[in-house]
Amino acid sequence: MPKVRTKLVTWDEVVGWCRELAEKIEKSGYRPDIIVAIARGGYVPARLLCDFLDIHDLVSIQVLHWGKAAEITAVAHVKYPYTLDLSGKRILLVDDIIDTGDSVIVARDYITKHWKPAELKVAAMQWISPVAKIKPDFYVDEVKEWVWYQYPWTRAEDTTNFFEKIVSERAKEGKTEWSFDELVEEFKEWYGIDVGEAYYRLALRRLLESGKLEERDGRLVVKSE
Ligand code: AMP
Repeated sequence: MPKVRTKLVTWDEVVGWCRELAEKIEKSGYRPDIIVAIARGGYVPARLLCDFLDIHDLVSIQVLHWGKAAEITAVAHVKYPYTLDLSGKRILLVDDIIDTGDSVIVARDYITKHWKPAELKVAAMQWISPVAKIKPDFYVDEVKEWVWYQYPWTRAEDTTNFFEKIVSERAKEGKTEWSFDELVEEFKEWYGIDVGEAYYRLALRRLLESGKLEERDGRLVVKSE
C-alpha cells in the first residue's frame, strides 16, 4: 500500500475530462462571457474549456494555498490582487480540483467584490466532496476518498517534492545515503506511481542544485541541516 494515495493523470485524461465538463456546461444553458483561471492549477483546464466552449476571453487570478509534497502550508490568499471591470459579464471560474475548496472560495469572493460580474459559476474537473467546503456548479468526478492527483503540469515539481519528503523522513530514521535506483524504488513504493526516468533525473538534479543532496563517490548523500 502506498503511503500517499496518488493518481497519475495523463494528458489524454485531462482532455477527456475537459470535453465532458464543457458538455455539462453547455447542457446547463450557462453561457459564460469570460473564463477566469485560478493559477496555477486551473490554467490548462481553463484553456481547454475556452477551446471546447468557443470562449475567447481568458484571464487569471493566482491563489496560494498548497505547499510541498501534498501538504497545506498557508492560508489561502490572492497573491497579486488587481482590479478588472467585469460588470455585466458572466464568469466561469476554473480550477483543476476542489480539495478543501479554500482557493476557489477566496477567488470567488475576491472577484465578486472587486470585479463585480453579473454572474459567476465554478467549474473543476475533480471535486473531493467529503472535505470540500464548496460544491462546484460543474464538475466531472466526485472523489469520495482523498487522493493526490498527479497532474501532468506538476510532474517535475511533485517528483522533486516527493523525493525531498522521502529523503528527509528516512534521514530521521538514520538513512542518509542513497543510490539513484533506491530512491526511485522508494518513490514508487510511497506513492504507488511511476513518473518515468526523465522526471526522476530532473527531480534529482533540482535536489542536487538546491544542496538538499550531494554526490559523493557515486552515492547521493543527504546534507545535514
Ligand atoms: P484547495 O484550495 O484545497 O481546494 O486546493 C488548491 C489547489 O491545490 C488545487 O486547485 C490544486 O491545484 C492543488 N491541489 C489541492 N489538492 C489537490 C489534490 N488532492 N490533488 C492534486 N492537486 C491538489
